Amino acid sequence: MSETLALTQALLKKASLTPDDAGCMDLMKDYLQQRGFVIEWMNFGDTKNLWARRGITSPLFAFAGHTDVVPTGPLEEWDTPPFEPTIKDGLIYGRGAADMKGSLAAMMTACDGFINEHNNHSGSIAFLITSDEEGPATDGTVKTIEALHQRGEKIDYCIVGEPSSHKTFGDMVRVGRRGSINGYLTLIGKQGHVAYPELVENPIHALAPILSGLTAEQWDEGNEYFPPTSFQISNINSGTGVENVVPGDLKLVFNLRFSSELTPEIIKSRTTHIIDQNSNSYEITWRLSGNPYITERGELTNAVEKALLDVTGNKPELSTGGGTSDGRFIAPYGVQVIELGLINETIHKINECVSVDDLDKLSATYQKVLENILL
Ligand SMILES: [Zn+2]
Repeated sequence: MSETLALTQALLKKASLTPDDAGCMDLMKDYLQQRGFVIEWMNFGDTKNLWARRGITSPLFAFAGHTDVVPTGPLEEWDTPPFEPTIKDGLIYGRGAADMKGSLAAMMTACDGFINEHNNHSGSIAFLITSDEEGPATDGTVKTIEALHQRGEKIDYCIVGEPSSHKTFGDMVRVGRRGSINGYLTLIGKQGHVAYPELVENPIHALAPILSGLTAEQWDEGNEYFPPTSFQISNINSGTGVENVVPGDLKLVFNLRFSSELTPEIIKSRTTHIIDQNSNSYEITWRLSGNPYITERGELTNAVEKALLDVTGNKPELSTGGGTSDGRFIAPYGVQVIELGLINETIHKINECVSVDDLDKLSATYQKVLENILL
């Protein structure tokens, strides 16, 4: 049995439901300490975060990840108990196998292999591990990276172990994600009887040209890394429920998933410009859920592409799709960030599993990334 598989099993046995780490980080701490890492606990609220660093010089390469897992769902639907890792037909089953204890194990053995061969490597290696990724994500990576920034500790390159692979191991990595912003528009009219149009201002009628303007708008054409920005309306509410009353207002909720060609400020001004042409009585509020980030082609994308080409024979697709990850907290500090991990097909599902062979491939890939960056 490979060491990566053994470590994956050991981590899977610990029922680390967010934000309970259940001893996973202690296991990682012991392993890393024995290999020359200096350990620091950076705990916020009831969230445990591990910062482990080997070396004091730059560049600083960090592995980032989380030990927590999502709930199992109905136990009777699992073929084998979710916290008793089971190997069957070349797959290892257990909650967190793909997301992302297999990755954590591969990071550890990759470091072990790298250090054994290159004990006097340049730069530093670090682990930024949290137990608060699957939950509210308020006391984990976001606070730890802020604290590191405060004391001037700068990460140059970061691999997040999120399961990025799609159909086969290493076919896709994530180099960023789109931004997301929500708008809440209220058009204010004048309520009255439908039979007296001269005495009312109908906000539903006022919406018609605004709607066509907003939906016809070509926000951008995307770029090398992002698809074109998309605009979608999720809610329209107006009307009193009766036949003979013109309503006094109308509420509209919409969302834009936006590329790095735009900023929230540009989106706001272009939206209000379209509304201003058709209404002078409205209120609008906004909620930004996240700015886009992108790791442009450079040292880290090259190191990852070369590593995957060596291990799998193929170059990965560089994608900005998918859900959120802690990469969004790390990238704003000027860090080159890539998500690279196992196949994501079964994550958060009943019978979560990964290929045993892929665990070793991931470890080999991580080790080659270290070699490409630090040698
Ligand atoms: Zn995850």
